Amino acid sequence: MPSHQPVAGMSAIDPQYVSQPSAMASTAEPNRNPKYDPKKPHITDQPITRQNWYKHVNWLNVFMILGIPAMGVVASFWTPLRWQTAVWAVVYYFWTGLGITAGYHRLWAHKSYSANLPLRIFLAAVGGGAVEGSIRWWSRDHRAHHRYTDTEKDPYSVRKGLLYSHIGWMVMKQNPKRIGRTDITDLNEDPVVVWQHRNYLKVVFFMGLIFPTLVAGLGWGDWMGGYIYAGILRIFFVQQATFCVNSLAHWLGDQPFDDRNSPRDHVITAFVTLGEGYHNFHHEFPSDYRNAIEWQQYDPTKWSIWVWSKLGLAYNLKQFRSNEIEKGRVQQLQKKLDQKRSKLDWGIPLDQLPVIEWEDYVEQAKNGRGLIAVAGVVHDVTDFINEHPGGKSLIKSGVGKDATAMFNGGVYMHSNGAHNLLSTMRVGVIRGGCEVEIWKRAQRENKDVQYVKDDAGNPIIRAGNQVTKVQQPIVSASAA
Ligand SMILES: [Zn+2]
Ligand SMILES: [Zn+2]
Repeated sequence: MPSHQPVAGMSAIDPQYVSQPSAMASTAEPNRNPKYDPKKPHITDQPITRQNWYKHVNWLNVFMILGIPAMGVVASFWTPLRWQTAVWAVVYYFWTGLGITAGYHRLWAHKSYSANLPLRIFLAAVGGGAVEGSIRWWSRDHRAHHRYTDTEKDPYSVRKGLLYSHIGWMVMKQNPKRIGRTDITDLNEDPVVVWQHRNYLKVVFFMGLIFPTLVAGLGWGDWMGGYIYAGILRIFFVQQATFCVNSLAHWLGDQPFDDRNSPRDHVITAFVTLGEGYHNFHHEFPSDYRNAIEWQQYDPTKWSIWVWSKLGLAYNLKQFRSNEIEKGRVQQLQKKLDQKRSKLDWGIPLDQLPVIEWEDYVEQAKNGRGLIAVAGVVHDVTDFINEHPGGKSLIKSGVGKDATAMFNGGVYMHSNGAHNLLSTMRVGVIRGGCEVEIWKRAQRENKDVQYVKDDAGNPIIRAGNQVTKVQQPIVSASAA
């Protein structure tokens, strides 16, 4: 799986390749902002003060994300909402939302499927209508988000706060050098992506405002309603909904696959984001065209891609094998189980118990200590004799003797609970009484056994213990 963070294993890569200038800096890059000079100090290098705070604000984004919707809300007070326009606004909300989720996200950022030219043009157009930047810009940041999740190089790290991950990273200026580098050569080779990037403002105005206005105006004469409801206010809702993938999906819900990073699964996030709410799964298996893997889970983006594939518009839909998905799920369950298990008293581990001679054991028992040997392990049951469910006399009859057979069915086949309880009373092991077979059996019968092998006898690999995993990352989250 692609790792979230660079790990020590990456040092195996020849440094000459690492130090190559990234594709981001290539001269073939379309439309780089000519005013940006990487050598000049950036405003974000200075702390925010009362004198300079307004320089830190990205006023263009504030106007686009908050200013225009605010004007739309005011205008809506004297613009009646006609039902045809309401239906159209909702339909266009879904189209433009899918432009982001199925287009920008799953097609271009993750290449989780391939689309033919007409579908790519459609997705680039309606995605532009969501007003969230060009495919190229969006996908570059999103790839950095996956590669550097939760670190300083994550463009919208939730570690900087829920509001920051939702909108703060856009309304405050960002140092382009801070964002982790990613390879987008594939996007530079897609003419649809390059065309949309070069003509981004035209695409935004046409698909964001003019097209929805035209449909309502030419369709049923509601020019103003189309502009306000299907244009401006619909943009606001689709933006806020898709921004939730960066905020809510890293904050609300469960982590069935990995809890070491912030992505989470929740049905509410899925409803808000056209199915992008199974985000813990998505970060583990980012090139899977699905986010929800169960049929009953809400993922209209997945359903759309599937329908397009049946219509011949999409192909090469990628899915991880369920064996891989289940391995992740089981490792996470096991981790939770191990956490619970570690809080329980399982008795002193056998290898930490003192070794007692048989004669010493018998001697101490004669002197009044309630010691019982079972399977080579000595237990001090002095305080338990009065509580023994089978009565005092039966347990006393085992004191100072080898009670292995008595305990294991000779007198009574003790319960699993009894084995567990007995193990908490361990005080020693008897020399010579610890032949391998007895130890194995004692472990088995104590249910103290750790399942470390699979059915075929191969070791079970717990999360993070894969042989390929290097435990000490050379680049820590704070090193940016
Ligand atoms: Zn994410
Ligand atoms: Zn993603």
